[in-house]
Amino acid sequence: MKDSVDDSQTVPRVASDPPAQPAEEPMLYCPVCSRKLAARKCKLFCEICGYYMSCSDYY
Ligand SMILES: [Zn+2]
Repeated sequence: MKDSVDDSQTVPRVASDPPAQPAEEPMLYCPVCSRKLAARKCKLFCEICGYYMSCSDYY
């Protein structure tokens, strides 16, 4: 007696996708000149045009 076992198992591919978004600090850019803002203590400032914002502004 033969067991008609179907060996064609469709193994679902487990795609090891990387996490959607790495936990990274939000990089802020100067709204004036689009340069990356430098962080100093509790302020972000732009070295290019002098724009700055305090941390209370973007929190
Ligand atoms: Zn700027």
